[in-house]
Amino acid sequence: MFPQAPRSPFDTHEVFNQSPPFENVDLFASDTPLRQAVAANGAGDEAAALSEFGRQWGTAAMFTLGRQANENTPRLHIFDPKGFRRDTVEFHPAYHRFMEQSMAAGMHASTWTESGKHAPPPAEVVRAARFYMAAQVETGHLCPITMTRAALAPLAAEPALAAQIVPRVVAGRYDPAFRPWWEKSGMTLGMGMTEKQGGTDVRANTTTATREGDAYSLIGHKWFFSAPMSDAFLVLAQAPGGLSCFLLPRFRPDGTVNALRFQRLKDKLGNRSNASSEVEFTGAFAWRVGEEGAGVRTILQMVQLTRLDCAIASAGLMRMALAQAVHHCRHRSVFHKPLYDQPMMRAVLADMALELEGAVALAMRLCRAFDRAAEDASEAAYARLLTPAVKYWICKTAPAFAFEAMECLGGNGYVEENLLPRLYREAPVNAIWEGSGNVMCLDVLRALKGEQERNLVAALARAASAGTLDAAVDIASATEVDARSLVGRLALLAAATALRESAPGAVADAFVRTRVARPRGALYGSADLAAATADALLQRVLPED
Ligand SMILES: Cc1cc2nc3c(=O)[nH]c(=O)nc-3n(C[C@H](O)[C@H](O)[C@H](O)COP(=O)(O)OP(=O)(O)OC[C@H]3O[C@@H](n4cnc5c(N)ncnc54)[C@H](O)[C@@H]3O)c2cc1C
Repeated sequence: MFPQAPRSPFDTHEVFNQSPPFENVDLFASDTPLRQAVAANGAGDEAAALSEFGRQWGTAAMFTLGRQANENTPRLHIFDPKGFRRDTVEFHPAYHRFMEQSMAAGMHASTWTESGKHAPPPAEVVRAARFYMAAQVETGHLCPITMTRAALAPLAAEPALAAQIVPRVVAGRYDPAFRPWWEKSGMTLGMGMTEKQGGTDVRANTTTATREGDAYSLIGHKWFFSAPMSDAFLVLAQAPGGLSCFLLPRFRPDGTVNALRFQRLKDKLGNRSNASSEVEFTGAFAWRVGEEGAGVRTILQMVQLTRLDCAIASAGLMRMALAQAVHHCRHRSVFHKPLYDQPMMRAVLADMALELEGAVALAMRLCRAFDRAAEDASEAAYARLLTPAVKYWICKTAPAFAFEAMECLGGNGYVEENLLPRLYREAPVNAIWEGSGNVMCLDVLRALKGEQERNLVAALARAASAGTLDAAVDIASATEVDARSLVGRLALLAAATALRESAPGAVADAFVRTRVARPRGALYGSADLAAATADALLQRVLPED
């Protein structure tokens, strides 16, 4: 006789007290701080479209694709089976799906018109909301997406080139074929600045550019060269007139493959769905962008935009980490009581929710400044001063935030099958690339030399709360030695001011009291929030189901 089949798939126990998967959620509708920040910064009319996007990206299928794209990392094929050079990178279909969907949603270019002008407000805010939601599901592919949209800024320096490239990017859709860009239905763009001997110090670049007719021939290398399957790259190289910016296509104008020789792909901590290569240029064809010697000034227009995206993506990582933590704690009981109702866990979650409120409000406020900078000098000053400060603060906050969220899930949080390890590994890169932390602080110091920027600091302090004026005085007189703490304070002040515009008064007050008026304790859970404020914060980050 066979024994009776057990009722449970296990012989020894039933499975209970585990949280259900966090999926099939509307990433927009479920996120009150995001919805309110979007509305406060001029994009309230887009709520329905953003909700549709949020539903699509929050499906179980998208989370599965996110896992697949990161488990099946890109592979470099230097040669074909017969020994001919190929220099191509193969990606998993899941990566291609993300590229397809992000480009279909316009994240690679929706802030530009086909003639290369900035799209009217609130284009930045709307795109940022999508970028923030996409980052919650899969962040690696956002590297080529952000570089593509940002690379169009410097191209304005070369109208003839821009006239060929910009419409193809703006109107294009994802086309991964390895073919010349003019034969494709869309194109993506990358960037190459960092060399072995210097990343921050790009003036130490040794790659040379020699004039050949209307174009240049580049010889040298790049030590970090992400998204190598892009159709063209903005790169820096030393021309006779000094460090200059170039557009280097994968195919020469005669249709032959350009002289980019990939050495290998980096084995990275996170960001694993995205390929980051090492490359040599062995006489690569390139067009100059901007004047010879103006390379840094030219490419900085691109970097300003990618820095903004680093901050938005890090805020997105934070939101997903916290949503996972809150969701888990609502469904997991310890000592006969949901973790969510344990006073200390609640204090931790609510304190994190308050931090995230500041990050989201600030990121969206900064996007409004980008939307309006061309018409409004004070918004241009805001973007100049706050972009490095916001990148610094949000991107530096995200790794520790993701770790704290991971711990809320206990041992499950540390296990690969759950999303938290990926979010945690993903977080540091946004602080490192596009200008690392110290470099951002130096940038703020440079911006603070401007009178308009110094006045802005005082205005932010007034708007945040009368008690924060002292902070404004300190910030305006920052030096390199104390720059980190003062830039952090600047970001907190700006976040408090942004919250005054987009969040309920109690949230802004709590932020000022626990972060601006006095330094916050080093770890989450020390904010001493009123019970009603904590309740409200937790419902705002994720309503109870
Ligand atoms: C996954 C990944 C992908 C990347 N993709 C690309 C890419 O596609 N294209 C590209 O061009 N680059 C790329 N990078 C490179 C990245 O932008 C650089 O690593 C970064 O700019 C730092 O440069 P570095 O590594 O040479 O470090 P360094 O310049 O040596 O800096 C080291 C540290 O010193 C600090 N520092 C620098 N100057 C000062 C100062 N004056 N005072 C105090 N501290 C200072 C920096 O903040 C940093 O923390 C990528 C990096 C990573 C990790």
